[in-house]
Amino acid sequence: MNTSNLDYWSLNGKKALITGGTKGIGVSIANEFLNKGVEVFIVSRHAADIDQVCSELGKKGQISGMTADVSKPTDCSSIADEINEKWGHLDILINNAGVNIRKRTLDYSNDEFDRIFNTNLRSVFELSRLCHPLLQRSEQGNIVNISSVSGVIHIRTGSIYAMTKAAINQLTKNLAVEFAADNIRVNAIAPWYIDTPLARQVLSNEQYKKEVLSRTPMNRIGTPEEVACLATFLCMPAAGYITGQTICVDGGFSIHGF
Ligand code: NAP
Repeated sequence: MNTSNLDYWSLNGKKALITGGTKGIGVSIANEFLNKGVEVFIVSRHAADIDQVCSELGKKGQISGMTADVSKPTDCSSIADEINEKWGHLDILINNAGVNIRKRTLDYSNDEFDRIFNTNLRSVFELSRLCHPLLQRSEQGNIVNISSVSGVIHIRTGSIYAMTKAAINQLTKNLAVEFAADNIRVNAIAPWYIDTPLARQVLSNEQYKKEVLSRTPMNRIGTPEEVACLATFLCMPAAGYITGQTICVDGGFSIHGF
């Protein structure tokens, strides 16, 4: 690899697809990418949210999007077709969309299992393989999967969510090995609590929030920007020899024994 003229810290002109790009971590990654000159395409289920984000962030750079439900493989195909038609290739795929339903294992219905499993995990599997030819054409492709510390250790999120995130961490390793020859790097980010609409539902319980902070050495909730900055770094040439890794963004939570 000739690195003499490489700008290690630039993503200027790259094209990125972000699932769940209308709220929380996804919109923050979109914002950070636009700051770095990346053209962004966001996907979520609600057109009004996509329009709002595109009009707010459109002042910074090129951003567009489409509605799709990533839990459905047919919608994942439509997303890949749209990117192919629009750009003909893809530099960055951010698999970020995710949902949770917190229950004890014995209380889940089959529908709830399918909803969490298909949104969090199957979407990552489907989009990664559907976007593979587009990422291959980039010649410097990147996939970043937004996982969770719940896929690394037990936390009280519910077993199905935790299973999907642990599986994403393993899928990240498998894809990193399989796609390395195509110059596609694959990494995952595993956040602990980050201040987003998803987490606010749980952290509105002050007693629970107190417990969370007591287990977090840095004694605070993370910001979406702190996840977005790592996602941005992982896609840069500066991270060019990093693949197959799951990096926790967690204020020290996952290495905190007693
Ligand atoms: P959020 O605020 O609830 O945003 C989720 C985004 O995903 C929204 O844009 C949502 O839009 C979209 N989405 C959900 N289901 C979708 C579907 N079936 N098809 C297409 N889009 C869908 O969540 P967040 O907190 O930013 O979380 C983002 C990711 O980080 C998730 O994978 C989550 O598991 C992970 N994470 C978050 C935290 C945290 O503390 N916040 C911690 C660890 C991991 P629509 O609802 O309009 O479709």
